[in-house]
Amino acid sequence: MLTGKTALVTGSTSGIGLGIAKSLAMHGANVVLNGFGDVDAAKAEFRDIDAEIGYHPADMGKPEQIADMVAYAQRTLGHLDILVNNAGIQHVAAVEDFPPEKWDAIIAINLTSAFHTTRLALPGMKANGWGRIINVASTHGLVASAQKSAYVASKHGIVGFTKSIALETATTGITVNAICPGWVLTPLVQKQVDARAAAEGVDDAEAKRRLLAEKQPSLQFTTPEQLGELAVFLCTPAADNIRGTAFNVDGGWAAQ
Ligand code: NAD
Repeated sequence: MLTGKTALVTGSTSGIGLGIAKSLAMHGANVVLNGFGDVDAAKAEFRDIDAEIGYHPADMGKPEQIADMVAYAQRTLGHLDILVNNAGIQHVAAVEDFPPEKWDAIIAINLTSAFHTTRLALPGMKANGWGRIINVASTHGLVASAQKSAYVASKHGIVGFTKSIALETATTGITVNAICPGWVLTPLVQKQVDARAAAEGVDDAEAKRRLLAEKQPSLQFTTPEQLGELAVFLCTPAADNIRGTAFNVDGGWAAQ
């Protein structure tokens, strides 16, 4: 379905980004991965998939490294058709205790990096007359939670950014949309489960149950695979006129 297409997925060495990268590759796209941690383990996930897989180690907090990564993707893949802005970090603290450097890092990685990748990828997409930009926002792009001011600000920001660029590209073959997951059991969320288990003196299973019960009416985690298949759908012709939307995949969280 995506044979001949190419994709760059930021923050794709684990969690949601890895799930989206795998879905795109399984549907035929060649993919450049990015992110930290165990890169070999991430690459091994693609062993049985017939797709070309590249990797660039850019830090999404560093604009010059982002530029190098986009150029690498364009060079190694020949062109860049699908850009998934997924890299993200979290920090949980009341605003008066929030370390300013954590605020800056969250805004840089969760929001500003998408400005840089988008401005650098768009000219090539325009030249080819086709493109997809998919921003992994969050339910926190639509509603807030206490103790997450930087994250909520960054995710509301990226939903707004999505709408703005969707308007700038509205008459082109390039669409720009956001995906807003609720709880997905990735390392980013496991940290919050661990903190809850420690603070409330409960085991891992009970901490997960409480986390879901508080926000996510389905009481089920969304999976990276489900988000990957939504990203694939957004790359199909059926989605040609879906522009500037924010898709909730949150078990009913934002419906409350
Ligand atoms: P994760 O921690 O499993 O993965 C984050 C990825 O980003 C990793 O590959 C990591 O190496 C990479 N990364 C972190 N900092 C980076 C940097 N400076 N430069 C480059 N790469 C960097 O987290 P996840 O849960 O898969 O989160 C992915 C995205 O989904 C984030 O934007 C997050 O806000 C969003 N999200 C997650 C959930 C959830 O419940 N897990 C819900 C809504 C939205």
